[in-house]
Amino acid sequence: MTYLFAPPPVPSVPVRGTDARFPIHRIYCVGRNYQEHAKEMGFTGNEPPFFFLKPADAAFVVEEGSTGPWPYPSLTKHLHHEVELVIAIGKGGKNIAAADAAQHIFGYAVGMDMTRRDLQNDMKKQGRPWCVGKGFDHSAPIGPITAVEQAGDAAHAGLWLHLNGQERQRSNTSQLICNFADTIAYLSTAWELQPGDLIYTGTPEGVGPVVPGDQLQAGVDGLGTLTITVV
Ligand code: MN
Repeated sequence: MTYLFAPPPVPSVPVRGTDARFPIHRIYCVGRNYQEHAKEMGFTGNEPPFFFLKPADAAFVVEEGSTGPWPYPSLTKHLHHEVELVIAIGKGGKNIAAADAAQHIFGYAVGMDMTRRDLQNDMKKQGRPWCVGKGFDHSAPIGPITAVEQAGDAAHAGLWLHLNGQERQRSNTSQLICNFADTIAYLSTAWELQPGDLIYTGTPEGVGPVVPGDQLQAGVDGLGTLTITVV
């Protein structure tokens, strides 16, 4: 058997403190998973969270200690930042019980769910899929993964984002509407989770516009920082 052309490289994320890399299978994202963010988007925050996906190769991987030159995407005039804690799945499964969910987590990372808000809003109005607003090339910046053993209490961790040195987002993962365990349990009823899946768990309030030249730095306590410069 031969391929018609070379298969694409496997996108992968560095793991802190080791040479091993985490190969990405899929990127799942949770929508409106912090009440104050749901409110700023015009909702009550009492609706259950929901899911969407980004392509695995939409990951924009920033190595430890580096700043990623992040290309401003086409089509949009209103690009938004969203800082998120990312769960890295190490063991797959379907219909995972919330009580067992922790066994499926390899580690955590700092991520950004970059969003073409104008296109997403157009799609929302028309009842159409969000792909063009959420799933574009490079739309999922991510920093190195920290294994759970080194991550501290990621379920009660501060997370924040600075735009050009000014704080724009700050909250705590304890504010998640759907916590890690419930997110994994629910996701695994809809898809069979696989090792290599990433779950962007949602963003807190304070999302806002980004323009070329901006520097974005995001962090989660215990997981380090993620820095990109928009070019
Ligand atoms: Mn998001």
